[in-house]
Amino acid sequence: MTRFDAGPLPSLEQQHRDPQRYPDGVAWLDGQYVPISQAKVSVLDWGFLHSDATYDTVHVWNGAFFRLDDHIARFRAGLERLRLQLPCDDTQLRTILHNCVALSGHREAYVEMLCTRGTSASFSRDPRDAQNRLMAFAIPLGSVANEEQMQRGLHLALSDIARIPPQSLDPAIKNYHWLDLVRGLYEAYDQGAENVLLRHINGTVAEGPGFNVFALVEGTVLTPDTGVLPGITRRTVLEICAEEAIPARAQPLSVAALKAADEVFITSTAGGVMPVSRLDGIPVGAGKPGPLTAAVTKRYWAWHADERFAEPVEYGR
Ligand code: PLP
Repeated sequence: MTRFDAGPLPSLEQQHRDPQRYPDGVAWLDGQYVPISQAKVSVLDWGFLHSDATYDTVHVWNGAFFRLDDHIARFRAGLERLRLQLPCDDTQLRTILHNCVALSGHREAYVEMLCTRGTSASFSRDPRDAQNRLMAFAIPLGSVANEEQMQRGLHLALSDIARIPPQSLDPAIKNYHWLDLVRGLYEAYDQGAENVLLRHINGTVAEGPGFNVFALVEGTVLTPDTGVLPGITRRTVLEICAEEAIPARAQPLSVAALKAADEVFITSTAGGVMPVSRLDGIPVGAGKPGPLTAAVTKRYWAWHADERFAEPVEYGR
């Protein structure tokens, strides 16, 4: 008999053996801290069945959270817009996040807080009947770009797939509606690229899977102004530019301007500031990471030790 033939009901021991593997980490859910391998969500959860959820991702670098207040504020704003309610206040949320990191022991961590619509005992179709569910976890910090790509710049493709328009879903609500982005990724892989940028319905540049984009055009650093997640890394870059008197602004970014840019880079909590050296197979500027990108990257990581933004984790013994 194969695993999938109908047959007698399996014994209790046979009922669930997880075929997946997980990174090392700790999660919080239902009032408990558990190893990440045990942090499971019900198949009946609206978050899983309908992507009815919001989340935020913050990182810990060198044992300290970076801009945790800003990530919690963005998370709270998304929750409010979706009419989701947390079972705790911000102080308790902060404690949960700190504890996940401390228990994981990771000094560089990817830390996610998420809230799903949850479930109801009657499997009601009315979202108001569901009990919202908060979860959080800390795993090792990953990056959109690997070491080699950081050295030589990422190779991106520009997709014709339109990013879900803001009229349908406000991108300021950080969400798991990623099918446009994932379709774009496969399209990019088919073209030999490593990642993808999507456009808006009007053809201007939007963002990619988990990152915002910047272009140095005629001496000014530009990033798309609307229809994208207001990334915390994006904001940090704009603030760095302001502090360093580098001209920078958010405005619509055409594909032509992007392709003619002297430098292009992407930004994400997962990797920080990451250079782009090819777009649709064509070199960007000099075809290698540029000096402006390098200077901004250096400042970005320097800000991680700045008391304005760093919040140390207490790891205990
Ligand atoms: N855009 C999208 C769609 C994202 O999901 C993310 C982060 O996950 C970003 C941009 C970058 O935002 P941040 O810099 O806050 O990580």
